[in-house]
Amino acid sequence: MDCLFCKIINKEIPSEIIYENNAVLVFKDAKPVAPVHLLIVSKKHIPSVDHLTSEDKNLVGEIFLVAQKMAKEQGVAETGYRLVFNIGKDAGQTVDHLHLHLIGGEKLPWA
Ligand code: 5GP
Ligand code: ZN
Repeated sequence: MDCLFCKIINKEIPSEIIYENNAVLVFKDAKPVAPVHLLIVSKKHIPSVDHLTSEDKNLVGEIFLVAQKMAKEQGVAETGYRLVFNIGKDAGQTVDHLHLHLIGGEKLPWA
């Protein structure tokens, strides 16, 4: 499948991997918007949150728990961080493979 994040998951394209388990891969965003900017990516190819089904309930929980763990490990759990899913055109989603942005390490502007 011609999907950038599937290729990163399959290690066909290099990335700075921070964490991996059966369900997710976490790597650094290539164009960070803050000192900490990780992407928590499902290993299963799902185009966006809008394509989730009840089969994905555990996966969604896992994504958030991994985000929480990463925030702690990256040292931003105390200072705060933002979790973002961009969905579709108006939100500016550019990669059609489910990913949660974890952003922090400085005071974040809103909108
Ligand atoms: P979206 O805009 O779809 O929510 O987020 C896609 C993110 O993927 C962007 O923040 C972008 O910087 C990041 N990205 C795009 N291509 C690559 C890549 O090849 N490697 C990495 N590490 N990040 C990428
Ligand atoms: Zn994919």
